[in-house]
This record gives sequence, C-alpha cells and structure tokens, in this order.
Amino acid sequence: MLCEELAKGDTIGTAVGLLAQSEFAISVIADEASDALRDEYLVPAIRGERIGAIGVTEPGAGSDVAAITTRARRDGADYVISGQKTFITNGTRADFVSLAARTGGDGARGISLIVVPTDTPGFSVGRKLDKLGTRASDTAEIFFDECRVPVGNLVGEEGRGMRYILSHFAGERLVIAALATGAMERLVELGIAYARERTTFGTALAGYQSWRHRFAGMAIRLEAARLLTYQAADLLNRGEATGEIAVSMAKVEAATSVQAVAAEVLQIHGGFGQMEESPVPRYYRDAAAMSVGAGTTEIMREIIARALV
Ligand SMILES: Cc1cc2nc3c(=O)[nH]c(=O)nc-3n(C[C@H](O)[C@H](O)[C@H](O)COP(=O)(O)OP(=O)(O)OC[C@H]3O[C@@H](n4cnc5c(N)ncnc54)[C@H](O)[C@@H]3O)c2cc1C
Repeated sequence: MLCEELAKGDTIGTAVGLLAQSEFAISVIADEASDALRDEYLVPAIRGERIGAIGVTEPGAGSDVAAITTRARRDGADYVISGQKTFITNGTRADFVSLAARTGGDGARGISLIVVPTDTPGFSVGRKLDKLGTRASDTAEIFFDECRVPVGNLVGEEGRGMRYILSHFAGERLVIAALATGAMERLVELGIAYARERTTFGTALAGYQSWRHRFAGMAIRLEAARLLTYQAADLLNRGEATGEIAVSMAKVEAATSVQAVAAEVLQIHGGFGQMEESPVPRYYRDAAAMSVGAGTTEIMREIIARALV
C-alpha cells in the first residue's frame, strides 16, 4: 500500500531511492545480521540518519548474480575487499553498502554479504550514471580498493550471501510490482482527467469510443496487476512456497502493464504529453526500469517456467 501511494507522487525515482534503503539495503540486515550490526546500521537507517545501498550488480554480473567477482579476503580480524559494483541506487549518497562479495570459491556458495561503511579508506564513487528514467534517485558505479572492514560486518554466516539475496529478492520484486501498480493507477487518473477536459471536433476525448475502450483495457490491466500483487504479498506473508512464483507473475504483469498504460496515456495527451510540465513523460521514462530492476522480466518468466515445464 505504501509503495502504491509513493508511486502516485509523480516520480517513481523518489520512491525507488527511499525503497532501495528500506526494502533492499536494510531488510537483509534486519532479518539476518547480528544485534551489533543492527544497532550500528539498521537503527540509524530507520531514524533517517544513515542512507543505505544494496551492492550486488557488477559490470559482468547482473541477472547472473553467482558470477560476481568482487572479492573479500580474510586477513586476521578483517575482510579486505576489492572490486566494482555498478547501477547502484543511492550509490553517490550512501553511508553504507550491503555488499555481495566473494569470500569463497566460484559459484553461489562462495558469496557472502558484508556491510561496508562508505567512509572506509579505499571506497570510492565513480560516475553518477545518466539514466533514462527514475532520475530523482541516483544510480552510480562504486569501487572498492583494498577496503578493510571488521569480520563482524559479515551479515549472518559466511557463504550464505546468495541465499540471503535470493530470499530477499521476493520482497524487492513485490515492491516493484506495487510501485508499477500505483503508477498505473495515477496514469489512468491523469489520462481520464485529460480525456474529460480536452475537446476535439466539438467532442471531449472521453466521448470517443476508441478512447473509452482503451481506458477499459487499462482498468483491466490495473486490476489484474493489483490482484496478482496482493495475492503475492499474501502468499509471501504466509511463507507459502508458491510466493516466489506469485511475485514473479505480479512483477511481470505490473511492469509490462505500466509501460503499456504509460504509452497510452502519453498518446492521449497529444503534444502536451511531450512536455515536461506534464508528469506523464516522466512516468513513461520511469516505467521502463520496472521490467529490469530487482530481476528482469525474462528472469521472472524463467522462474515461473521452471515450476511449469
Ligand atoms: C534504475 C536501476 C537501479 C538499479 N539499482 C540497483 C541497486 O541498487 N543494486 C544493484 O545491485 N543493482 C541495481 N540495478 C541493477 C539491476 O538489478 C540489473 O540491471 C538487472 O538485474 C539486470 O542485470 P543486467 O543489467 O546486467 O542485465 P543482464 O543480466 O546482462 O541481461 C541483459 C538482458 O538479457 C536478458 N537475460 C539475461 N539472462 C537471460 C536468460 N537466462 N534468458 C533470457 N534472457 C536473459 C535480461 O532479461 C535482459 O533483458 C539497478 C538497475 C537499474 C536499471
């Protein structure tokens, strides 16, 4: 509900910046980390005093998380971390990064999650990336050059990072489905308001059957996305095994539909839809990230297909 409402604020980017912290960077600390780590990072993050980022994606490893190469080498009571992450939301502003790094051998079992404060010597921010949409949040490259952090910054157990990432992906994907649903509701409202107000050839656009039926189609997509999202939330809350499939379905449906609805609502705005004084072009751009962030539509389909065939 919160995500839906945030997405109606005419900038999904702002919502993404907030949720990258609350649902991505700190949820894993809340669920898996020691009390000491929670006191140090979770409590100030909840108070709004520290900003967190989640650092998983690398230039050579996005969908294939198990291919990450950022390494955390054990040295006495510390980990020494070297590597690079990219596309990191809050990357330029974060006080700490919940980082996926390789503490063991190749593959998923060699990955751990470590909290790295960004004032650690050797940490640096590369480019703030210039994005198509969600521009109200920053997305950046971050670098780790022999960053030394205490072993106590390990989240949970060594070698279980991939498991923690995967178990939290479902919540992150649910967030995106809910954001897309909220954005879709706002887009339909904006489209109908314009259709009522704008007259051509002596008739309000809302009077043309062509548009009325298109709005009916948008309403069906909105309702389908919302119901799939709520069902996924319910299954995840109850810890049902089918929750992961349900959330993948919700994310595909909501992400695909918000892009289709944004294109329709842009079109009904005619020339005004091309103007930045309307929120519609921003929604159109922001919607594109919904089928990529926290797992692409193709990866969602793969998860669904695995349960079928
Ligand atoms: C705005 C934004 C913010 C982000 N924020 C963060 C963040 O805070 N932290 C973070 O760690 N990451 C973040 N990401 C990264 C995001 O999670 C990745 O971009 C995403 O997982 C896809 O990885 P990739 O870009 O490397 O694409 P790739 O994995 O290279 O995929 C490229 C294309 O190939 C397709 N593909 C891949 N594998 C298969 C397959 N097996 N079958 C069929 N098709 C396939 C994909 O679906 C995609 O269409 C962000 C991305 C964006 C756009």
